[in-house]
Amino acid sequence: MKVDGGCFCGHVTYEAEVDPETVAICHCTDCQTHSGTAYGVVVGIVDGAFTLLSGDLKIHEKIADSGTVRALTFCPECGTRIHAKTVGEGTSFFGLRAGTVRQRDQLVPKRQVWSGSAQSWVGDLSAIPKV
Ligand SMILES: [Zn+2]
Ligand SMILES: [Zn+2]
Repeated sequence: MKVDGGCFCGHVTYEAEVDPETVAICHCTDCQTHSGTAYGVVVGIVDGAFTLLSGDLKIHEKIADSGTVRALTFCPECGTRIHAKTVGEGTSFFGLRAGTVRQRDQLVPKRQVWSGSAQSWVGDLSAIPKV
């Protein structure tokens, strides 16, 4: 599926090819801290098909809980997370941050990963009063 998107401030825009069957909620503590919220939502980029249309990306390399080195990218102007991929050995998952995708309403999570570090309340949001 061809998608496009960008960061919060508009500096970064991109096009990518993603597989909607790979949309996942990631409960790892890196995603919690780096996103500033409870979990990350990512979709797999197919065959490295990501094209930056404007702006540039700042890269932060981090050794993940899995032991692999992940290159986390974000907008240097507003800090929006854009994608993450493995540097060197290890899992080759190239994940695009679903919240930056313009077509994100079509990206429904298919699985949850790193559930052992999930926050206790995320399993049943319907129990929380809505306004
Ligand atoms: Zn930005
Ligand atoms: Zn994660």
